[in-house]
Amino acid sequence: MVDVEGCKGCDLCVGACPTHVIELSRKVNSKGYHFAYMEHPDACIGCAHCAMVCPDSVITVYRWKPAPKPREATTA
Ligand code: SF4
Ligand code: SF4
Repeated sequence: MVDVEGCKGCDLCVGACPTHVIELSRKVNSKGYHFAYMEHPDACIGCAHCAMVCPDSVITVYRWKPAPKPREATTA
């Protein structure tokens, strides 16, 4: 997840992502920078490389645990 207003569009996170999840938007934030966003979120492996290289620490990586499957009803 990118803090759009804090992003300076430096492109470091785009190059650091091994699965090409991140791209720079054609839109700009209020400061006029093309901000980073997740173009292919399903490809994210949660490695946090993007967050490590961001000089302004505006990327937060979340990992979701899949919800437990409901127990199947047992029949006797
Ligand atoms: S956590 Fe890893 S795979 Fe996911 S967007 Fe960041 S660099 Fe790419
Ligand atoms: S590394 Fe940080 S400041 Fe640079 S484009 Fe990515 S999110 Fe924006």
